[in-house]
Amino acid sequence: MTAPVLHGGSQMGHNRLPGQNAGGWPIRECPECRKGFEPKVANQLFCCPAHKNEWNNRATARGRVLTPLAIVARITRNGTRGTPERRDAGKKASSYQATLIQRYRDEDREAGRMEWADYMIHRIDLGYDPL
Ligand SMILES: [Zn+2]
Repeated sequence: MTAPVLHGGSQMGHNRLPGQNAGGWPIRECPECRKGFEPKVANQLFCCPAHKNEWNNRATARGRVLTPLAIVARITRNGTRGTPERRDAGKKASSYQATLIQRYRDEDREAGRMEWADYMIHRIDLGYDPL
């Protein structure tokens, strides 16, 4: 067996840095199904494309609802800043947000998915930086 090519032609166009395909990483837990899997690339989060898509499609749908609520809740400091109308909107946004997050957490637990705090720890460990 020849040594793996870590840079050059075969990796071009795959958006991978040298070493990302080196293999040999410890078994990881898939956030969607909680099963252990052997990563094929350094920053692989999910066991398969189907579980990655399920997780991300659900997160996208939830995010469309949560993002405006989170921004209004934060900007108004949960309804304690701004005009009376903005404070009222901020209180409602904060309450809706809390209710939805509780609902999503319950759904995820019921479905046996990874807890969100553990998912975030997992992502940060793999180099996640949203900023
Ligand atoms: Zn999975």
